[in-house]
Amino acid sequence: MKIKKGDTVLITSGKDRGRKGKVLEASPKESRILVEGINLRKKHQKPKKSGEKGQIVEMPGPIHISNIKLVCPKCGKATKVGYKIFNKNKVRVCKKCGQEI
Ligand SMILES: [Zn+2]
Repeated sequence: MKIKKGDTVLITSGKDRGRKGKVLEASPKESRILVEGINLRKKHQKPKKSGEKGQIVEMPGPIHISNIKLVCPKCGKATKVGYKIFNKNKVRVCKKCGQEI
């Protein structure tokens, strides 16, 4: 998968279109990611101790990777990810500025 945990991504469709966020989790099997503050869903949290009240917390919901673009940390543009072989390692490169990301 081209997107990794810790990447900054741009949302390209849905209600959060145009927003940016940090990838919290990436699951390559499902091609879905969780992005901080994006696609929030309300979740009920059960009380941890008796006598405490349950809470409603907002948690990011999964987004399909076809709905996001990586934001290049070098040039700051939303870009497609390319690959090149560098010192026998496969590295990701930005298709806009060509730098390793
Ligand atoms: Zn770039």
